[in-house]
Amino acid sequence: MSSERARELIVGGDLAQIDGFNPLAEVESLNGVRVYDVGQGDSIAILDNRDRPVLQIDYGGRQDSPFRDQSSEYIDKCMPAGDCRLVMVTHWDEDHWCSAARAAAVRGATWLVPRQVTSPRAVRFSTELTDVSCIPESRVGQAFCFKAMNGDEVWWEKIAASEPDASKHEDCNRTGVALAVVKRTPSGEGTVILVPGDAPFGRVRYYEHLRAQKLTLRGLVAFHHGSRSHWTEATRRLLRTWPVNRWDVRTVFSCSRDNPFRHPHVENYEEEMGETIEIVRTPSCRVGNDRYIDIAF
Ligand SMILES: [Zn+2]
Repeated sequence: MSSERARELIVGGDLAQIDGFNPLAEVESLNGVRVYDVGQGDSIAILDNRDRPVLQIDYGGRQDSPFRDQSSEYIDKCMPAGDCRLVMVTHWDEDHWCSAARAAAVRGATWLVPRQVTSPRAVRFSTELTDVSCIPESRVGQAFCFKAMNGDEVWWEKIAASEPDASKHEDCNRTGVALAVVKRTPSGEGTVILVPGDAPFGRVRYYEHLRAQKLTLRGLVAFHHGSRSHWTEATRRLLRTWPVNRWDVRTVFSCSRDNPFRHPHVENYEEEMGETIEIVRTPSCRVGNDRYIDIAF
């Protein structure tokens, strides 16, 4: 049972200057997001106007990882950290950070991570990073925005714990960081791409706020690799009612071809969003020897 697992708390210090902290301050504008094929897990880059990664979200992939017998140079080349000022970990489940343990370049960036109860292995990895800060617990549940020079936005929030209490053997999925990338027009309209990590959409408070602003849903990464756990009415309603004005809401499932969890459950998304979605699975990358799937604005 999970209750027998050893669990520890991430020990890094809080990010001191969270207000005004903006890793996109020198980024001209944003083109979208890139979802790497990492097998079962997540590794996602936010791209600038020249399709260069400028913010890295997670760096994982465990089961069926394409990096299993590869060198750190190869991992660096496949998921380059070159222009990323910041790496954010959505939560400390191993499939969201473990490729970084074998890579080199990405570990030199600044890391902003949630303070969670997790595996001793994850805690050890976090202490080996040269520049790592935690999101202050006092700011949990609050939405933050990084802005590019043209006003494009990356919103993020660390979700507060909820019942049942996850503090002892924490369910990292339910208290992780969820992100969204927004591009607005001068008239106030805009489009959004949702990057929730493993957090169910219905648990992310500011997603409802973005939906209410009538931002068009351009694409999303299915939460928790297309899991159907925590598939709540709040999540279903959010997807069902989010404005779309085109027939290609790009919906990416980041998972391995075969996994014991039977991810992804694409039918959940089809049920709520009908024919508006274009379904793409990361294992399809490997067939053509590609390494990633882009969701472009
Ligand atoms: Zn995961």
